[in-house]
Amino acid sequence: MPAVSSEGGCLCGAIRYRVDGPCSNSMICHCRTCRRVGAAPAVAWATFPASQFTIQRGRPLEYRSSASVRRTFCGECGTALTYAHSDEPEFIDVTTCSLDEPDAFPPTHHSWLSHDVAWVKFGDGLPTFPRSRYGDPA
Ligand SMILES: [Zn+2]
Ligand SMILES: [Zn+2]
Repeated sequence: MPAVSSEGGCLCGAIRYRVDGPCSNSMICHCRTCRRVGAAPAVAWATFPASQFTIQRGRPLEYRSSASVRRTFCGECGTALTYAHSDEPEFIDVTTCSLDEPDAFPPTHHSWLSHDVAWVKFGDGLPTFPRSRYGDPA
């Protein structure tokens, strides 16, 4: 995917962020943890270089969903914002739909279908994986 400079933020606007540089992965995660974090059937994520991610306004709260995973969200409105895994500190995932232009980052596949809710049917024709291509999402 092309190099970009893109901005995003939470629903209430208390948190604004910016990412520069290439989006190296864009996917939809169906794992149990993302489902709970988003209170949604699945959550779309876009991966960027962690060094190119900056918070421009506000201060997200952090939740450790496992020993190696830090997730952030807005403490005012609850919007899920980022995912970072300690095994891959050079990357950060942002929730694709917290970006101002999610259409610029179409997903290429679905992960963790093994955790899926039975009634979730996307029908977008994208490849699906029972787990992640990149390891444990928790
Ligand atoms: Zn907010
Ligand atoms: Zn997930």
